[in-house]
Amino acid sequence: MDDVLARLRELQVADLPVHGGRTLAYVYDSGLPDVDRIGREAVAAYAGSNGLDPTSFPSLLAMENDLVGFACDLLDAPDSAVGSVTSGGTESVLLAVQGARDASPSVSNPSMVVASTVHAAFHKAAHYFGVTARVVPVGADFRADVAATAAAVDESTVLVVGSAPSYAHGVVDPIPELAALAASRGIRCHVDACIGGWVLPFAARLGRPVPPWTFAVDGVTSISVDTHKYAYAPKGTSLLVHRTPELRRPQFFASADWPGYTMLNTTMQSTKSGGPLAGAWAVVQHLGSAGYLALAASVFEAVDRIVAGVPSGLSVVVPPDSTLVALTCDTSCDAFTVCDEMKERGWYVQPQMSYAGAPPTIHLSVSAATLSSVDELLDDLASSVAAARAAGPVSVDPEVVAFIGALDPAALSEEDFDGLLAASGLTGDPSAGLALPARMAPVNAMLDVASPALREALLIAFLDRLSRPVRSAG
Ligand SMILES: *Cc1c(COP(=O)(O)O)cnc(C)c1O
Repeated sequence: MDDVLARLRELQVADLPVHGGRTLAYVYDSGLPDVDRIGREAVAAYAGSNGLDPTSFPSLLAMENDLVGFACDLLDAPDSAVGSVTSGGTESVLLAVQGARDASPSVSNPSMVVASTVHAAFHKAAHYFGVTARVVPVGADFRADVAATAAAVDESTVLVVGSAPSYAHGVVDPIPELAALAASRGIRCHVDACIGGWVLPFAARLGRPVPPWTFAVDGVTSISVDTHKYAYAPKGTSLLVHRTPELRRPQFFASADWPGYTMLNTTMQSTKSGGPLAGAWAVVQHLGSAGYLALAASVFEAVDRIVAGVPSGLSVVVPPDSTLVALTCDTSCDAFTVCDEMKERGWYVQPQMSYAGAPPTIHLSVSAATLSSVDELLDDLASSVAAARAAGPVSVDPEVVAFIGALDPAALSEEDFDGLLAASGLTGDPSAGLALPARMAPVNAMLDVASPALREALLIAFLDRLSRPVRSAG
């Protein structure tokens, strides 16, 4: 048995570190060892419990109601508010869209109006539920354009979405205007606070300026907030909170139309581990408001120092409203090379591709744990810029750009994808598995000149080739 666990630890060495504050995407680190231990032990204690039936596992229902209650206070929710714990931000978003669709059964071709900066989970919801995403460009401030949103709303609209904040740029959309617009048309307004919902309330308590985005804003009908982000809980939980039980009703599902138990679900999962819920509950109980306030003070000190100290060659795309910083490079260096250079220096910063005419950017999700090494982060950013300048910009051969531009992703065969992936440096040999080049900048530069549709198709082909079962021999 120990042998298997030792092998697990060995496997994990290849992964990004989840502690230490040097991984600035995917993970959120409080920097407090007790928080990790308590979360981990709670997950382990509840790994076998099943949230399928709260009457059989009443402790899970109690923990869920506690957690939603804590969130309701953060979200300025009225007494009528109700909520559910989901498996993550994507599930919360999917359910917000599904609920809006199913609350308007008379609309035959439902649509939702979203800003171009909305999280990709809404495009997934559109894909799953047949709700057209009407995408509206953002203004020069990277925030949703209210007039353009109003112009895109029509009889088919079942949902207007705002972000608090957007993932890519870290700014809060004009929620009061979006919500008023939705309310005036009798449409739902969802605020995607997946990444900001647990930290912005504490920013406000610290006296920082926070644009309005909670249920205190009239017309906001639901809010998603991820506990596995800035509640610093183990992975696997998010909350979807509705202003009233009536708004939540279409989310619930029951089926008695089979010979087994009557299936009764509040969310998309049926059998669900009690582990993530117990982990989130335990961490939130342990930290409480005072703990989160202190963590918010740390993370915002880190954000302020990063924004103030960005080295020459880089600049902040837009002053962040929350804990996410987007950086852009001047013409002396390129973002993808800076990301590679940061990796060499022990940091993970996330490249974001060019979009709608805007250049590539570097994304930083700042954690409380990052505060203790902010000076090192800034020094390493400066030396990464210097190294990227010395290396020169990665450029893609104009002939390759023209070739890529002429490709129709829908018309490509599997052989074409094999060739394209090999040419882009992702996988030369499909059986080689995850053979990523040490430096990703050339790959990213190539992907960056591809259209979003081609990039999606190529990366799906890549993922497909990575995902192959390992069979025992013989
Ligand atoms: C993270 C995030 C999501 C999706 O959440 P997952 O937990 O990754 O499924 C949705 N919206 C925003 C703004 C996010 O940051």
